[in-house]
Amino acid sequence: MSLRRALGLDTRPERYAYAVDPTIGYTARRKIPDRWVRTTCGYCSVGCGMFVGVKEGRAVSVRGDLDHPVNAGMLCPKGLSEHETIHAANRARFPLLRGRDGLERVSWDDAIGTMVRKFREVQASYGPQTVGVISTGQLVTEEFYTLGKLVQLGLGTPNYDGNTTLCMSAAVAGYKRSFGSDGPPGAYDDLERADVIFLIGANIADNHPILWQRLEANPGKTLIVADPRVTKTAMLADLHLPVKPRSDLAMINGLIHIVIARELIDREYIAAHTTGFDALRESVREYTPERVAEITGLSVENLHRTAWLYGNARAAFIGWTMGVNHSTKGTETVNAINNLALITGNIGRSGAAPFSITGQCNAMGTREAGFTSSLPGYRHFASAEDREDLAALWNVPVEQIPTARGLPYPDIIEAILDRRIRALWIIATNPIVSFPNLGVLRQALETVDFLVVQDGFHPTPTSTLAHLVLPAAIWGEKEGTYTNSERRISKVNRAVEPPGEARTDFDIFLDVAAALGCRERLFPGWTTPEDAFEEWKRVSAGRLCDYSGMTYDAIEALGGIQWPYPAGHADAAETRRLYTDGRFQTEDGKARLLPVTWEPFPEQPTSAFPFVLNTGRTVEHWQTRTKTGQVPILDRLSPNAWLEINPRDARTLRLKPFDRVDVVSQRGRIRNLELRMTETVATGQVFVPFHWANANANQVTQSAFDPISREPNYKQCAVRVERTQRGTV
Ligand code: SF4
Repeated sequence: MSLRRALGLDTRPERYAYAVDPTIGYTARRKIPDRWVRTTCGYCSVGCGMFVGVKEGRAVSVRGDLDHPVNAGMLCPKGLSEHETIHAANRARFPLLRGRDGLERVSWDDAIGTMVRKFREVQASYGPQTVGVISTGQLVTEEFYTLGKLVQLGLGTPNYDGNTTLCMSAAVAGYKRSFGSDGPPGAYDDLERADVIFLIGANIADNHPILWQRLEANPGKTLIVADPRVTKTAMLADLHLPVKPRSDLAMINGLIHIVIARELIDREYIAAHTTGFDALRESVREYTPERVAEITGLSVENLHRTAWLYGNARAAFIGWTMGVNHSTKGTETVNAINNLALITGNIGRSGAAPFSITGQCNAMGTREAGFTSSLPGYRHFASAEDREDLAALWNVPVEQIPTARGLPYPDIIEAILDRRIRALWIIATNPIVSFPNLGVLRQALETVDFLVVQDGFHPTPTSTLAHLVLPAAIWGEKEGTYTNSERRISKVNRAVEPPGEARTDFDIFLDVAAALGCRERLFPGWTTPEDAFEEWKRVSAGRLCDYSGMTYDAIEALGGIQWPYPAGHADAAETRRLYTDGRFQTEDGKARLLPVTWEPFPEQPTSAFPFVLNTGRTVEHWQTRTKTGQVPILDRLSPNAWLEINPRDARTLRLKPFDRVDVVSQRGRIRNLELRMTETVATGQVFVPFHWANANANQVTQSAFDPISREPNYKQCAVRVERTQRGTV
């Protein structure tokens, strides 16, 4: 059955007809393209297939790809207006170098020459590692692969990381610890096949809307949602578990306690495919339903009900996003989820997976091909064999392959403050809005000797601080591949030319390599992203994320191919899952059951700061609104940030709907938010979306990070709510 039929969508052949009605008006006619360019959405990790409509060299419209295996033609509000980001007023058009009068236009030769000279001066004076690089989840995989080689082997600094550490490094670290490798094991198909779907800290109705459509198409499912808020997703659940903030780890340990006690586990699977069961059983002994009920605020009855539903499922799927990852205990919470899936045998089967739903469109691509938390192809820094393998593939001395990762993103910021890093290259990210504890971040960016910001947009809150701005092409203007959350590689195509003198990130990286004198050594004969793709295929061959059987043409024709897809594999269109044979990427081939311990979150409420602040997203906007803030329909739908508070708390504070309020923590103040009174937030908690620069949630969030993954604890900090004083705005 086709995906469109399964989703209950129109399957008539005439749906393909796009006849032009001669009676339509001028405005509508302007949006009728001369040609359609097939591509993949550049916002979130769902990876929807779409076409960009081009008229006279401009992107004028988009439409969903009816035959795409991910979205069957559907798009969410962001995807439906994505073409408008291309012609936004704040596109970066020319290289700009800071002079006496601020940022001034320079040639590309001057820009790249200055950048390389400054970086080399810093490295000559203070050491090679004093240059830092922070990239993104927004580039194509070919660019990540090129950038990793350039930074590590050309520039010669290990201190390279991405903004992906801010959203999913806990999932990466958790998978590695449990299974020996990163890589979400399941597929979207599982949402339609599972009989129990358990979403933990994942509001997919807002944040991954097309996945929500696929989940809804499963008529036989029972949906359980654990979330402190009654989100749109929670409202549609069969069972909502309103856990207290950051008590999810205790909840999962409690569920493990119950499924073991009630023998709802798969002893055969545990014996054949895991290690550590006895220690896990001992570790959850203290997580009795009564104690867990006290920690989580859930009833004992609902804990038993959840354990019974999950433990008796034929196929159970756990999906999670930032509610789990954004925590000092994020990695260990992922391990707890993996523990629960493993002991019940809910992995490697149709409908059964512990599944991290990623954020950015190609965050997965940097996980596979980048050179940050792993060597390319999920190789391990610590493995001599992996380093030798890579050195041989690249024909470089093995000594050039680093033996350990460099500083993660938060540690790069800290290193700037104590002058261990003196120059910084930021690529396609906007930390002034996205990094926690804004005051500290701003101080770092103002301290650094030389700051390069390479972005498709300028001015942004971050690019205005730069010494050098490099204008980059964005989605719709370049070619390559993205990997979505289900490990599907999809093709991204150029529909229009970049504005002004903007260049693709790929071309910029090759120009920097040329200026460093390493282009031919590292990228021999490369001129197009496909050159990088062909080398990356060879580097990935034999690895878990094997691309070696893929070609651009096959990816394009099928609307994507899931890895692993080794050369010689017969069926490119089949749904692929990991660990179907029960063999994991550990030395003994068995998954590790890891005991993990719940702890209260780091900053507890006090009488001065009595509320727990939760932050999150809304369907209309994307990350720091660099893109969506320029799209009129999205901006009109959701123009300003707001604060959600329970009516009982609002009454105590003598506040009423639409009052203007400030949110204050020990570190700062978010000013002039619109107050929304809603029962979707429990008493003692408040919620603020994090997209807005002028009401930046990170003015109050804290510098607390997961010790394993270095992911920030964005989700809970202690705040108070005050009426905004007139004259302070
Ligand atoms: Fe794009 Fe994600 Fe929306 Fe799909 S769900 S259209 S990938 S933003």
